[in-house]
Amino acid sequence: MSRSARSLSHHRLLGAVLALLALLPASAPASGEDAWVPSPAVLARAARTPGRYDPAGNACTGGLTVGAASLRTLLARLFRLEDIGGYACRPNTANRSRLSVHAVGRALDVMVGSSRGDMIADWLLANADALDVQLLIWRRRIWRSGQANVRVYTGPNPHTDHIHVEVLEGADPNAGLAVRVHLEKALPV
Ligand SMILES: [Zn+2]
Repeated sequence: MSRSARSLSHHRLLGAVLALLALLPASAPASGEDAWVPSPAVLARAARTPGRYDPAGNACTGGLTVGAASLRTLLARLFRLEDIGGYACRPNTANRSRLSVHAVGRALDVMVGSSRGDMIADWLLANADALDVQLLIWRRRIWRSGQANVRVYTGPNPHTDHIHVEVLEGADPNAGLAVRVHLEKALPV
């Protein structure tokens, strides 16, 4: 791809993201507490997810799954993110008797500030079904597949500087591509 064609495709991609974000109503401000409050439209889409959760299991696996690696690449490109943590063989911070989903390569830590974080967390939640997302933790709230709302997250880390996102076992590595293609088709020519 030539440099100008690549630049054009980047602009189209950015346009696609902005077009989607324009469709999402802004999150209502949190009342008192600094917490994630997804919009009703985003929560309605989140409610359509299958209600499935694949736990971490008992052994570290050595790297990201193809589904998680694909989501990482998609987030980095769509939102120009440079710092996204992934595989780590370690216990769950909220329950140290169990392995973290990072240890089986299905969790990402998306390092973000609060305003972009709300936008990206909303985007992940709105597209959770297509992206095979099973769980999100952001700004003192947790969401699991099948839930129509976010709940209070009580783990020791409030997740105010990163979004923790997990994908299902066997998450489709082309899922993000389908979301992108869908967005690009929605753009006016
Ligand atoms: Zn994490």
